[in-house]
Amino acid sequence: GFPRRGIRGNFVPPIRCSGNNVGNVTSRNAGKGEDTLDDSTRRCLEMLVGPDGELPEKLRNIEPRLIEHISNEIMNRDPNVRWNDIAGLEHAKRCVTEMVIWPLLRPDIFKGCRSPGRGLLLFGPPGTGKTMIGKAIAGEAKATFFYISASSLTSKWIGEGEKLVRALFGVASCRQPAVIFVDEIDSLLSQAAAQVRMDVETFLKDFTWLQRKSEGEHESSRRLKTQFLIEMEGFDTVSEQILLIGATNRPQELDEAARRRLTKRLYVPLPSSEARGWIVKSLLENDGLFKLSDEDIVSICKLTEGYSGSDMKNLVKDASMGPLREALTHGIEITKLKKEDMRPVTLQDFESALQEVRPSVSLNELGAYEDWNKQFGSLA
Ligand code: ADP
Repeated sequence: GFPRRGIRGNFVPPIRCSGNNVGNVTSRNAGKGEDTLDDSTRRCLEMLVGPDGELPEKLRNIEPRLIEHISNEIMNRDPNVRWNDIAGLEHAKRCVTEMVIWPLLRPDIFKGCRSPGRGLLLFGPPGTGKTMIGKAIAGEAKATFFYISASSLTSKWIGEGEKLVRALFGVASCRQPAVIFVDEIDSLLSQAAAQVRMDVETFLKDFTWLQRKSEGEHESSRRLKTQFLIEMEGFDTVSEQILLIGATNRPQELDEAARRRLTKRLYVPLPSSEARGWIVKSLLENDGLFKLSDEDIVSICKLTEGYSGSDMKNLVKDASMGPLREALTHGIEITKLKKEDMRPVTLQDFESALQEVRPSVSLNELGAYEDWNKQFGSLA
């Protein structure tokens, strides 16, 4: 049959847009081997054409399938997280409001001396709410949210990451105000050592890697990094309302060039005891399962020193299985079980869950974050 060209396929000539509106464009549609765009790609492009009926400058010469991928998979108009959903982190919320949300809402005031930085780095242990903060920024600032994991650029989009990055910044500039959230940004902007580690990881995931390696993989990841840095330099924070947020659990691996571009660097630490209690309460309340006393909550907070937000979520999940397991051991069949047959979640359920769900961050690692924060973190 006709050879399909997948995302890792051969070169596909870019769409020609000058002098054409999208409706007239005929182009080879990647992956289909057809001469016209399919409906969904066309719809994506149509949503991006300007008042003059043409694609904005930045999107010309970018393959339609990449624009479509960005619009459908990476872009999210309302990520549906608000400040109130995030426990604790008062310091980070205050800084972000001033540094990021106000400038996005009032670009007229935030110019000159007050002009915002182009990039924000959120660093800290995994599962502490960095992604939630990124989403909340987009929600609070009424901005379009773009989420991309840097490791997908290097593993899934092998050799094409650079083009995807161009498409990403191009679409974002048509969807302002925009927040581009790059998760695991260390894997994109790391020092050479990290690259080697990642190569090994990718190799383990995908053994066809060996063939690609011969195509000059290091060259392509170097190009990807360069393209990314160029895009970061390229947008103008005064006229363009695009904010780049990088998140990382490995800030130590960012090099000087990366640090220079991520001008604000905020530590997102493990949740305080109070924040842990809040997470437990709000998760159980959402499901109508909350019956714990204040003393129970205090005990849970004491027992969960060192747990991250996502550890807490896993703990609640496990504890909330307690009543169900118990009802089933009393001989009730799962298909006949009524919600009323289950007792509320108790402190004992949490005590058993604590045996199963251990904290995911070690004291050692915490120390390293704090050191890096002292050296490179923004305090205000
Ligand atoms: P990170 O990006 O720092 O790795 P996430 O923001 O993806 O972590 O958090 C993972 C999950 O853990 C969230 O979906 C949420 O359920 C829970 N969580 C983490 N931190 C918090 C927090 N501060 N408040 C409420 N929930 C949290």
